[in-house]
Amino acid sequence: MKKTVRDIDLAGKKVIERCDFNVPMKNGVITDDTRIRASLPTIRYILEHGASLILMSHLGRPKGEPKPEFSLAPVAKRLSELLAQEVLFVPSPEVVDSKVEKAASELKPGQVLLLENVRYVAGETKNDPVFAKKLASLGEIFVQDAFGTSHRAHSSTAGIGEYLPTVSGFLVEKEVQFLDEAVNHPKRPFVGILGGAKVGDKIDVIENLLDKVDTLLIGGGMAYTFFKAQGKEIGTSILDADSVSLAAGLLKKAEEKGVKMLLPVDIVTADRFAEDADCEIYPWDKMPKDRMGMDIGPETRKLYRDVILEAETVVWNGPMGVFEMPRFAEGTKAVAQAMADCKGTTIIGGGDSAAAVHQFGLGDKISHISTGGGASLEFLEGKELPGISVIEDL
Ligand code: ADP
Ligand code: MG
Repeated sequence: MKKTVRDIDLAGKKVIERCDFNVPMKNGVITDDTRIRASLPTIRYILEHGASLILMSHLGRPKGEPKPEFSLAPVAKRLSELLAQEVLFVPSPEVVDSKVEKAASELKPGQVLLLENVRYVAGETKNDPVFAKKLASLGEIFVQDAFGTSHRAHSSTAGIGEYLPTVSGFLVEKEVQFLDEAVNHPKRPFVGILGGAKVGDKIDVIENLLDKVDTLLIGGGMAYTFFKAQGKEIGTSILDADSVSLAAGLLKKAEEKGVKMLLPVDIVTADRFAEDADCEIYPWDKMPKDRMGMDIGPETRKLYRDVILEAETVVWNGPMGVFEMPRFAEGTKAVAQAMADCKGTTIIGGGDSAAAVHQFGLGDKISHISTGGGASLEFLEGKELPGISVIEDL
């Protein structure tokens, strides 16, 4: 268990918090403020407990230089509206300079200061200790609440924790609770569902999950690399040629471990990669040479649904088909619906899978949708995340 803001005395303290304010913007206007809203409970808790608060975040990729289009000024404005209080913003190209230090030191309990985009400084993404120390010098406690960058060892996500007592905010707490519980102490049956385009991207996840799950359901583009490994015809389907022998190894490992690893039994095929392509369903072992697999078929959807409904824990990463094209979204939709109907704990990690579930309007029927695509993937790979390791244990 990791320490959270509940486990530390905040009264009269200066708290520096890493948030994820990496919001989509168009011409300086925030087009979706979900991430800012999501950060409010932690911010309010800290302020209500008598601390003053210095917030930091990255926005986009300014690549170590101040670029006005990546300024956090619009975030300061929006945050101030949402909190219904002033949010001080000192637009320093160095993020921390004497003006910022003065503003931070003069901050009173209940007041909020937002720093400029931490990625204006080249040292940030190199986890430069000099920059980390500068950030740390502004506060007395570090709160980590940006899960989406917690797999990166940067000055504002990991380095700063070397100099200050470090606890998590509520967003990171929830991510760690769900992912850690699910992966390391799952209620069984534990079912993993993996899809997406390439096996290569997910080898480490499959490897790690094979040690933990009872059943692994495979869909999406990666299924064809497994079929290839079994010597089957895959037509013009996406193939991760470099991973065929790895896929064969994984099938063998599953068998040795007694993990049921299911591949699609039928496939929605197309004559080309297009929404208006000619569309036909084939059993997995009758795939024509000139067609490509775009989605899992109706028999597979039923089979996977039954497995999911029986599960006590389900972790899903990667769409079952080319869900961006509505005609090939049915498999992904069926899995999302089964997750929604499952009585056990259901967890989604992965940017595209999360987007798909929201697109189907099923987001609020899932126990936990991770907000960090890359970070949740690394968690599922069994890796230690530098921005999480830095949080003190309870
Ligand atoms: P996530 O972001 O959830 O981790 P990935 O990025 O690994 O998922 O994979 C998502 C992509 O996989 C989507 O763009 C989807 O179109 C693609 N995909 C799924 N099935 C297929 C398929 N059969 N052929 C080609 N691409 C596919
Ligand atoms: Mg993706």
